[in-house]
Amino acid sequence: MTDHTITPRTGTLLGDGYDCTCGTLLADRVNAELHASEHQLCTSCLGSAVEEPAAGFTRACTACAGTGRRREQITWQLAHAEAAEVITLPMVRGVVSGWEGPFHLSQIADAIRDGLALPAGRLPVGPRVRDLLLRMQQSGEIHMISAPDELLDGTDVVLYRDPQWQRTRPLAL
Ligand SMILES: [Zn+2]
Ligand SMILES: [Zn+2]
Repeated sequence: MTDHTITPRTGTLLGDGYDCTCGTLLADRVNAELHASEHQLCTSCLGSAVEEPAAGFTRACTACAGTGRRREQITWQLAHAEAAEVITLPMVRGVVSGWEGPFHLSQIADAIRDGLALPAGRLPVGPRVRDLLLRMQQSGEIHMISAPDELLDGTDVVLYRDPQWQRTRPLAL
């Protein structure tokens, strides 16, 4: 089996683009993603299993759960779509409205998972609940009281491991 390791080529005489170890020159990002998907590699990290959300900061690719494989990426995409369908804003708002005092993301995610009787790892509950809590934060229903765990210098990327929020005022349901 030919190895397909795709790496970005920057600032060379050939211009920007990507090279693959199989010898294929990929003119741009779209071609690189196509080549990755043809060879069952994750189109987000191009099979490297690593992503760089901010310059100089890398972590396991969230699209393919750090596997670099296209199959895992598709499975994960479907799971994210299913989670978005199953876990709704009114549902999260309902859990939050019954919560006394501050709460962690993981606590709300656990409550939702229990409420839906989902086994752990069945759906990406945490990321979906985080998105909805951030939406509630934007509308002023809740506010974050935890300090960012990791604040990346020079970017607006803020990573929270298990942020904590509090209700701003009684919710009008
Ligand atoms: Zn290749
Ligand atoms: Zn990936």
